[in-house]
Amino acid sequence: MRTRRAAAAAPALPAPAGAGALGGCGSGSGTCATGAPDNPLPRRLAADVTGTGADSHLVALQRIADENGGNRASPGPGYEASVQYVAAVLRAAGYDVSTPAYPLAKRRRRGGGTHCQNVIAQTRTGDPARVVMAGAHLDSVRKGPGINDNGSGVAALLEIATRLGGAPLVRNAVRFAFWGSEEDDLQGSTHYVKTLSRGQRGNILLYLNLDMIASSNAGYFVLGGEGKTPAKSGPRGSAQVACALVERLAATGVVARTTTFDRESDYAAFIDAGIPAGGVWSGDRKNKSGKQARRWGGRPGEPFDPHYHTRRDRLDELNRTALDRFTRAVAGTVAHFAVSN
Ligand code: ZN
Repeated sequence: MRTRRAAAAAPALPAPAGAGALGGCGSGSGTCATGAPDNPLPRRLAADVTGTGADSHLVALQRIADENGGNRASPGPGYEASVQYVAAVLRAAGYDVSTPAYPLAKRRRRGGGTHCQNVIAQTRTGDPARVVMAGAHLDSVRKGPGINDNGSGVAALLEIATRLGGAPLVRNAVRFAFWGSEEDDLQGSTHYVKTLSRGQRGNILLYLNLDMIASSNAGYFVLGGEGKTPAKSGPRGSAQVACALVERLAATGVVARTTTFDRESDYAAFIDAGIPAGGVWSGDRKNKSGKQARRWGGRPGEPFDPHYHTRRDRLDELNRTALDRFTRAVAGTVAHFAVSN
C-alpha cells in the first residue's frame, strides 16, 4: 500500500490497491526495467501493432465525419456513428463492451438529447481487481472531422485492442475507454470516474491517455511524473508510467520529452482520484522550436499541428511515422503493466 502525498485539489480516496505493480522504476536505477524477461507479450505486441493497422480505423472515422456534416462532435450523429463503429470493432475482437450513458450539461444538449455515451471494453482475462486502463477521446470539435484530434488516439487503441484480443494471457485485466464530450467539458471521463465506487477506483492500477499522436509536424511528448505538484506530475506512480512510455518510444528510435499535465484532457479525473497516470501527445498549435526540430526532425518555427481544431484535420495531413511510433510504444507499455505483478 502506498502513501499518498497531500493534494489540496484531490478528494480523499484510498490508494489503488495494486499500486505495487508500478514498482521497479524511479528508484534511482535510471531505468523502468520494462523488459520482463519471462513474458514475451510486451515485445510481441509492440512488434505486432503498426500505424498502418491503425490507419484502417482512421479511414472509417474520416468517412463517418464526411457522412455526418464534416464532424464527429458529441452529441451528434457523427459521434453516434463513431460509438457504433468502435463498439463493433471491440465486440468482434472478443471484448466485454458497454456504452454507458452520461448526462449532458444543459447548455451542451444539442438536438434534444440529454445524454451521451462513452465506450468501455475490457478483456475477459486478467484480474478484474487489478485493471490497466488506456483511454482516448472519441469526439471531435464541431469545426472539423478530428482525425489527428483525436481519431489518432482512438485508432491506436483499436489497433492495440484487436492485436491483444479479448482474452490474452495477462496477470491484470486491460480496459479500454473511448470518451465523449472531451472537447466541451471533459464530461465523459469526469462522470465515469465520479460514478465509480471507491473500490472500483481502487482497482485501477493506472490510466494512460492518448490525445493527438499523429500531428503533421510531430513532437514526442510524454506526460507524467514531471512538475512539483501532484496536479502537474500526477499521483505517485505516474513517473513509472511515463518512464515506461519513454523507454518504449526510445525503442522505436526517438527521444521523447517528458512534460506536465495541464487538465486539458481526460486524464484530469483520474489524477483527481489519485490514480497514477501517463499520457502521450504529439503537440498542437504551439510552434516547434529549433532544438525540437533538431531532435525530432520536422519544421522549426511552425506549429506541431497546423490544422488543429479546423476542417483540415483530415486523413491526408497525418504524420504516419509518429502514429506508428506512438502506437508501438503504447502497446508495449500497456502489455508491460498487464503482465506485471
Ligand atoms: Zn483532443
